[in-house]
Amino acid sequence: MNVADTERAKTRLLEAGYLISESVQTSDVVIFNTCSVRERAAQKVFTRIGEVRKSLSNRRPLIGVMGCVAQLEGETLFDVSGTVDIVIGTRAIDRISKMIESALAGQSRILDLGEHLEEETWNINSQVRHSPYVAFVPIIEGCNKFCTYCIVPYSRGRENSRLASDVLNEVRQLRALGFREVHLIGQNVNSYRPKSDAGLEGIPGATPFSKLLRAVAATEIERIKFTTSFPRDFHRDIITAIEENENLCNWVHLPVQSGSNRILRSMRRGYHIEDYLKRVDIIKSSKRKISLTSDIIVGFPGETQEEFEETLSLVERCQYDSLYIFKYSARPGTPAANLRDDVSKEEKAKRFLVLEEIQKGIQKNIFRGYVGAEVRVLVEGVSKKSNLDMTGHSTCHKVVNFSGDSSLAGQEVMVQVTAAKANSLYGALVEGSLT
Ligand code: SAH
Ligand code: SF4
Repeated sequence: MNVADTERAKTRLLEAGYLISESVQTSDVVIFNTCSVRERAAQKVFTRIGEVRKSLSNRRPLIGVMGCVAQLEGETLFDVSGTVDIVIGTRAIDRISKMIESALAGQSRILDLGEHLEEETWNINSQVRHSPYVAFVPIIEGCNKFCTYCIVPYSRGRENSRLASDVLNEVRQLRALGFREVHLIGQNVNSYRPKSDAGLEGIPGATPFSKLLRAVAATEIERIKFTTSFPRDFHRDIITAIEENENLCNWVHLPVQSGSNRILRSMRRGYHIEDYLKRVDIIKSSKRKISLTSDIIVGFPGETQEEFEETLSLVERCQYDSLYIFKYSARPGTPAANLRDDVSKEEKAKRFLVLEEIQKGIQKNIFRGYVGAEVRVLVEGVSKKSNLDMTGHSTCHKVVNFSGDSSLAGQEVMVQVTAAKANSLYGALVEGSLT
């Protein structure tokens, strides 16, 4: 999400005639993008601003802060650091160039925490995309779920879905520009509910999201992934849509957060483990082999050893292809921050390691199961670890490395898996598989 926000800010700046530089040494304006979902980011940004200022002893560029910290801290950023000139709220990104203009004209304390305006487009300039082959396409922003631990509904506001006609136009343009994969992104993509069905007329599907999936599939872009799915809104028809369309990739990210019904209630997640497992069974019994990944928080206030063990059993039962584990940390302003954070730091660290160990074992088996098989890989570039290897992701969203040359970048190839590592697969290019 933050990468997509950065791309959006850069697009608006290019449109306004600014040049984008990745070096603070040569910049007249420095913008910090921040995220507080998993950490207390405010302090971190002050430290970074301090470091940048120190490295530029005789120059004073304009400093802007965007993202969660900007939205949550607002005006106080001007007071606390005394070095911030512009505060750009999460829904004000499209107005970033106007704000910079005002600051350059000498105005101080420029702040915009307002909502998106109807006429503002979500389009991104392809030059600023993080990859020339894979593009993030936001379809919904904000969140209405208010899980008790989470800052997102406060930092990003209410759910706002983009019109399918806009999404489809963007995907068609991306395809014409040579992009081969799109990731439809949002806090909860399957809660997608646009104001009108523009672009979805006549498309079959049980929910607006499963209609959107079919419509995006019909653009014939080679690969479509989507994240994150919210368990309560996960409808069987999403899997049917995947089964009907080869270009809808075989990967679902379905965060469970905890294996205990009491904790789920306290988190206000809006589902029971039994409901979640029904969804998992639908995914696992599909005729496509669909990867399943999840997020879990350990050490939520009041989580007992037994409740933690329920999470361990759930993880054994779900056999996730990969898992993001977080130690609970209170976000000021959320309901859970009023609960006593009574699982000690040491205990959280211990639970994290226990869960990580179990997941490692599960993942080892799953990854080993791929040895000998062929996977379809979009080659994204040269591997960071060895410049003799190319790297990319499979349709099931696993990192796959293989020996090959850089002319393969941007191609979809078949790779025969020869070895499984902890978090990636290694293999050999299948001759003649280039598409
Ligand atoms: N909308 C998605 C997740 C968005 S936030 C969903 O509902 O699943 C990404 C992940 O950060 C969450 O899934 C959660 O596991 C983690 N997270 C959010 N707030 C947290 C907190 N206060 N402490 C620890 N982890 C947190
Ligand atoms: Fe946060 Fe819950 Fe919304 Fe996910 S669904 S973004 S965890 S409030």
